[in-house]
Amino acid sequence: MPQVAWSHSRIRTLKTCMRRYYYHYFLADNGWMESASPERRKAYLLKKLSGLPLWTGDIVHTIIEHVIHGLRTRGELVPLDKAQAHAIKLLRKGWVESTKGLGRRHPSKFLLLSEHYYGPKPSKEKCEEYKQRVLRCLHNFYHGAVMQRLRKAGPADYLTTEEFLKFRTKQGAVVSVKLDLAIRADGTAFLIDWKTGKPSAEVSEQLCAYAMYAIKAGWAKDPEGLCCCPVYLNAEDQSRAMPEVPFTWDDLGRKAGSIQKEYEELVRVEGLKNDMGHFPTCDDLNECKWCPFREICEGAMG
Ligand code: SF4
Repeated sequence: MPQVAWSHSRIRTLKTCMRRYYYHYFLADNGWMESASPERRKAYLLKKLSGLPLWTGDIVHTIIEHVIHGLRTRGELVPLDKAQAHAIKLLRKGWVESTKGLGRRHPSKFLLLSEHYYGPKPSKEKCEEYKQRVLRCLHNFYHGAVMQRLRKAGPADYLTTEEFLKFRTKQGAVVSVKLDLAIRADGTAFLIDWKTGKPSAEVSEQLCAYAMYAIKAGWAKDPEGLCCCPVYLNAEDQSRAMPEVPFTWDDLGRKAGSIQKEYEELVRVEGLKNDMGHFPTCDDLNECKWCPFREICEGAMG
């Protein structure tokens, strides 16, 4: 398969800002190597920056993955208080790394928060708010509808958890997806995406690509055999935290068409990667304000 693959996050980056795409996918490439140029190393460091919402969301994903692994392989459920204690340990570890700035020298090994790199340093209240969010998300995961299904599931019911998967569409586009969880229950394949932030309109586009994979993989014969759901773990009203996003064959066909066009664009820009001049800055100051690459980008300074 060709090196470049369409993915929801990849095309979103390209559409948001071509220059950011260049820094993230091209300039930062191999920037972890001692022999890399200073520009490459800097771009790599900036690419690896995280932020409080992303980092804490990643911790929730990590713990859930760990809990599901225990259920899937040993049939054992880690108690909630243990899972939460594990999350707090990860929060402390990451916070210490980031405040010490260890990631400045070893960005691939240590967490470095954008809030510590660029400032301002988050207040104690803000940190406590994110800690409580992590604990609440885990609590809601344990008490949610998916957990009820997981408790009943046997090893054969698991279709995938957090794996990078690739497939080729009929038109030839190479597509990469990473489903948080897919599980079979009551004759339906449930495709689950954990969300720790607020609902977003983009989610149906993301899930539609997952549905394409599920059909291709034979998890269901048609879209009616799928149940695609974002799960909003931080939602106040947990009775409405798992809205199903239904798809038809027409939806999948439309998505395949848009992926094909976007894939061709990704292949086109791949051929331009040695010349930053082909990747203009964007004019959205809101994007620049929080962009990890703002230190090296003239776009951020207007
Ligand atoms: S700072 Fe602005 S223009 Fe530069 S890469 Fe980031 S989003 Fe694009």
